[in-house]
Amino acid sequence: MFAFGLNTMNGYALLMFAIICGMIGAFIGQSRKCGVTGFIAGLFLGPLGWLLVLFNDQRRQCSECKGRIPDDASRCQHCGVVFEKPKPPPTQPPPENILEIYKTWKEKNPDKELPPHLMSDPVLDYKKWKEEKGIE
Ligand SMILES: [Zn+2]
Repeated sequence: MFAFGLNTMNGYALLMFAIICGMIGAFIGQSRKCGVTGFIAGLFLGPLGWLLVLFNDQRRQCSECKGRIPDDASRCQHCGVVFEKPKPPPTQPPPENILEIYKTWKEKNPDKELPPHLMSDPVLDYKKWKEEKGIE
C-alpha cells in the first residue's frame, strides 16, 4: 500500500519533470525554429534533448560566414554582409507592345538613354525577368 503510494508520487514527479524538461526544450527550440521538436526532445530526453535542439538549428544560414540569421534578415548580424532580396517575378507582365515601343525607340536612338516614360519599373523588371528565364 505504502509502496504503491510512493510509486504514484514518483510517477507524478517524473511526469512533472518531463514536462518541465519539454518546456525548456521548446524554449530553446523556439529561437531555432524547432519549438515542437524541442518540446518532444526535452520531454523524452531531458537535458540531452536540450543539447540536440541546441545543435539542430533550422534558421537560415549566412552565405558568407555560415552564421545563423533570421529568415527575413537583409543584413548578416555576424559579418555584416548585405543580402539582396530575391524579387518575385512580376505577376502581371506589361503588354508586349511596351517592349516593342522600347525596342523601336532603342533602334532609332541607340546612344541615348531611355526617356522617362519608357523607364517604368515593370518594363525593366519584366525585361530582366525574361532575360533570367532565357525567354526571347
Ligand atoms: Zn554572415
